[in-house]
Amino acid sequence: MARPRGAKARADAVVDRLKAEYPDARCALVHHNAYELLVATILSAQCTDERVNMVTPSVFAKFPTPADLATADLAELEALIQSTGFFHAKAKNLLGMAQGVVARFDGEIPSALDDLVTLPGVGRKTANVVRSVWFREPGLPVDTHVTRLSGRLRLTDETDAVKIEHDLGAIVAPDEWGDLSLRLIEHGRKVCDARKPRCDACVLADICPSAGKFGPLSRANAPKRPVKAAGSGRPRRV
Ligand code: SF4
Repeated sequence: MARPRGAKARADAVVDRLKAEYPDARCALVHHNAYELLVATILSAQCTDERVNMVTPSVFAKFPTPADLATADLAELEALIQSTGFFHAKAKNLLGMAQGVVARFDGEIPSALDDLVTLPGVGRKTANVVRSVWFREPGLPVDTHVTRLSGRLRLTDETDAVKIEHDLGAIVAPDEWGDLSLRLIEHGRKVCDARKPRCDACVLADICPSAGKFGPLSRANAPKRPVKAAGSGRPRRV
């Protein structure tokens, strides 16, 4: 699909403004190494980061390395992660992931996207979280917030996560991908809410094509739209 008109210029402004607004945006999942981040990210599917952070200390204490997790008792693992939801599938994926890491990657979490996505329970979003947050490699995780904000800001017309990732990747520098994703998530949580976006308090309102469509807009941050000057027939900016 063709890129929305002005998407590149808007993306440049979004990167700059969100960098100023959220200079310290970081992953909310508590972790100390790539293995812990991968486990926490798998557990975060359909679950809040707060809940995951309540569960992971006991998981990491019991299974401190992929080798330990690879030989875990499935029922014991399920009991530890039960409160994160979908625990049967998550436990199976965690076990399979750890066994794959031990068998194929010498017990070390790989950093390459193509390797990460071969592990059970690891899709592109999870792989990109591990790449960008831990390895500081280019990776653009697309979650529900990134999807919603990318659409509202008309950075892309796509709705599929992989296509959104590719569209954003084409107009944003690779070394900005990870931080942009974290900042869009933070902005989505704090301002551009799914149901009630606070356009009147949004630093992107004057460049956002959706400003005021879903939430209130103040005069101060209203977008400048061309209007006709009296008598001239020509548009002017206000
Ligand atoms: S102006 Fe409104 S719709 Fe646009 S990004 Fe800001 S909060 Fe979201």
